Amino acid sequence: MKKAEIISVGTELLMGQVANTDAQYISGLLPSYGFAVYYHIVVGDNRDRLSECIRESLGRADLVVLTGGLGPTEDDLTKKTVAEVLGLEMIKDAKTESELFAYFSKTGRNMSPSNLSQAYFPEGSTILENDFGTAPGCLIKKTVGDEEKIIILLPGPPSELCPMFKNKALPLLKEEGEDVLLSKFFDISGVPESEVERILSDIISGRTNPTVATYVKDGLVTVRVSASGQVAEAEQLIEEDAKIIRERFGGNIVSENRQSPAEVLVRLCEREKLMLTAAESCTGGMIAEMITSVPGASNVIGSSFVTYSNDAKIRLLGVDDAVIEKYGCVSRECAKMMAEGAAKAAGADVGVSTTGNAGPGTLEDKPAGLVYIGVYYKGETVVKECYFKGGRDHVRRRASNTALETARRMILGIEAANGH
Ligand code: ATP
Ligand code: MG
Repeated sequence: MKKAEIISVGTELLMGQVANTDAQYISGLLPSYGFAVYYHIVVGDNRDRLSECIRESLGRADLVVLTGGLGPTEDDLTKKTVAEVLGLEMIKDAKTESELFAYFSKTGRNMSPSNLSQAYFPEGSTILENDFGTAPGCLIKKTVGDEEKIIILLPGPPSELCPMFKNKALPLLKEEGEDVLLSKFFDISGVPESEVERILSDIISGRTNPTVATYVKDGLVTVRVSASGQVAEAEQLIEEDAKIIRERFGGNIVSENRQSPAEVLVRLCEREKLMLTAAESCTGGMIAEMITSVPGASNVIGSSFVTYSNDAKIRLLGVDDAVIEKYGCVSRECAKMMAEGAAKAAGADVGVSTTGNAGPGTLEDKPAGLVYIGVYYKGETVVKECYFKGGRDHVRRRASNTALETARRMILGIEAANGH
């Protein structure tokens, strides 16, 4: 495979104000186009240090992608510096210039000379139009020594960079890569990582193509299968392992293509024609938010409840106040009544509930991270007692995802009622 490096430019990245999600996004896509990413570099808005980084990367890689610093301000120096290092003139692009004039007259703003700098590019650039902002990117091919190099410049804001990289830059790289590296991801629930590794030990150890690796994220075990070669060949290699993984994990596979538990559940409920609802205490609406962020959610959810106080649980969900009195609201009994009450109040087929202590302190003598998750479906209710480690947001996220995943398992009959 050809080699790529990403240089992200911006002092705000070095100061820890902004996470380098641009490099993460680009890295996720390059291998399937035949480029292995070997370095992520972050450098501040400083001409000398940026020059040095560009020289070093050009010395090692076939493709160098630079992000940020394409705007009109003084500290936006990526284009100038790249031109300098490559020994290229900065040339005005007439089309970009007229588009800038049109943009400024339409928005009724004055165009300053510095805005015009956005119309200049290193000579020989292929302009990458910016459909979501004013600063276009560009792609440059240049022979350095006796090797052909590709340099791509992209704007910093992710809302501009992601579509530009995917829609404008990647199509131009299609012919450039040799072999590709493809990956497939299986998210598995209900089986601990060590057990997943044991079950797959024959295809994990001692192989180079394809390779299989596991890691844990947000309570799910992800199995990644990666293969390199020509596209068809790599796909074939991955599919052989995919069959094995499907055979061994069956319904414990939440998704095969990085769908979230919410997305998987929404699609399942659409197929089964089921309506969902949630009764949320410690997750405060996060489950409803996760469900409604999936396109098509209106087919499966009509209403949902945030019942933070005991009074709300009693009034809106019909939870018995004697139950709260006896067991507390952070309890198995309360979670059960919440899930059942929500399904009844919403007229839904599936009711999920969360009640717990998201932390940081202790509540009703219940430790931080203790959450009861209920799922009601077809006359039965499962309640799970979970202990999540980590900060408040992490606990709430884990609880939400676990609730959604428990509902999927319940609908598919993998989760037995009153099981743990
Ligand atoms: P603009 O025209 O908006 O100035 P630009 O190409 O000059 O775009 P920068 O000035 O470097 O880009 O960054 C603009 C903003 O984009 C930053 O404040 C930051 O919020 C975001 N950003 C920049 N680089 C990255 C990155 N590598 N990952 C994620 N976000 C980034
Ligand atoms: Mg800028």
